[in-house]
Amino acid sequence: MSPKTDLRSGGCLCGAVRYEINLDGSQTGNCHCRDCQKNSGGAFMPFTSVDRGQFRWLSAPEGEGRASDIAVRRFCTACGTSMTWEGRDYPDRISISTGTLDDPNGLEIAYEIFTRSRWATIPPVPGARQYETED
Ligand SMILES: [Zn+2]
Ligand SMILES: [Zn+2]
Repeated sequence: MSPKTDLRSGGCLCGAVRYEINLDGSQTGNCHCRDCQKNSGGAFMPFTSVDRGQFRWLSAPEGEGRASDIAVRRFCTACGTSMTWEGRDYPDRISISTGTLDDPNGLEIAYEIFTRSRWATIPPVPGARQYETED
């Protein structure tokens, strides 16, 4: 039996940024930290993490945002879409903004982090592991 590979594509709102990703073994979770609330302008950000080798840019974003020295967030300079979170301490991993997938359906939210800054009006995802800060 050969394993089925979950290959997907994604990109920014305007289409200038495009990527391909192999979601085998990926992990998806919501981050409720203040940085992600500010960066997205919303209540939280869903991220999907894979090994670097499972991800490639077809047309890479030019924007690099840093709120601190622990991570860079890449974004499209044409439309502003936040594309990735790349942590200094996790050089072999890349986290994409899950909503940038062309088809984000079927990805299970397995965990939620930085729930200490969760909005009181946003309930926990049923069944998702909950972490006050990082997992
Ligand atoms: Zn764009
Ligand atoms: Zn965050």
